[in-house]
Amino acid sequence: MRKQIAAANWKMNLTVTEAETLLYSILDAGIEVSENQKVVFAVPSPYLAMAAKKVADYNNISVAAQNVYSKKSGAFTGETSVSMLKSIGVVHAIIGHSERREYFNEGNQFIAEKVKLCLQESVVPIFCCGEALPVREAGEQNGFVQTQLEESLFDLSADEIQQVVIAYEPIWAIGTGKTASSDQAQEMHAHIRSQLAGKYGEAVSENVSILYGGSVKASNAKEIFGKPDVDGGLVGGASLIADEFVAIIKALK
Ligand code: PEP
Repeated sequence: MRKQIAAANWKMNLTVTEAETLLYSILDAGIEVSENQKVVFAVPSPYLAMAAKKVADYNNISVAAQNVYSKKSGAFTGETSVSMLKSIGVVHAIIGHSERREYFNEGNQFIAEKVKLCLQESVVPIFCCGEALPVREAGEQNGFVQTQLEESLFDLSADEIQQVVIAYEPIWAIGTGKTASSDQAQEMHAHIRSQLAGKYGEAVSENVSILYGGSVKASNAKEIFGKPDVDGGLVGGASLIADEFVAIIKALK
């Protein structure tokens, strides 16, 4: 059965003291994360080891890198490898966030290489996809996301695809306060699942968690997560506020 997941993306925010305070206040809030749920903290890279150590005592709570490189090791100054993550107990990584696609020119092929390497080394990729506003306004979002899936994921085996977490994040809803309606989210999630079913079969598609991301907050999480094909959220801004993120965790199915 696929997991319901609340993933925090702290992006490039917080000092180490602020990060520790935030993490501890969420963990100390007495959240119960059941076996069919998972909570993930994608913290800035300098804090990964600290956070991984801290969550190690908690069930179903993990830490994720916000990015990872596509090569195993070598002369790639400034990059972080998958095995480095594993060596500090980090076994999740966000791959292909729209901010990396936009500001660092990451394309579908490069992202495919990162996903593949993560899977080879047993790190769970949280693969981000989603369209910009002009694509949505032209009614071309389904085809756009389909191409992202085909070019970055569809070379994977059926076993591999079931290890991937997909995050649908319409770019027009990220950090804008403008959330997709729960019906818009469900429509795209059902589309993504039907693409997975077409490629890998229905049983496999039912095992893949598909998160929604884009201005999720305590006030809208329950409605969005309540949709049948929405398996939780990838949360930016609201994950920086302890009470908000705790309420988002509680809104998981
Ligand atoms: C994100 O960065 O993945 C995101 C969804 O951000 P926000 O929740 O702030 O829109």
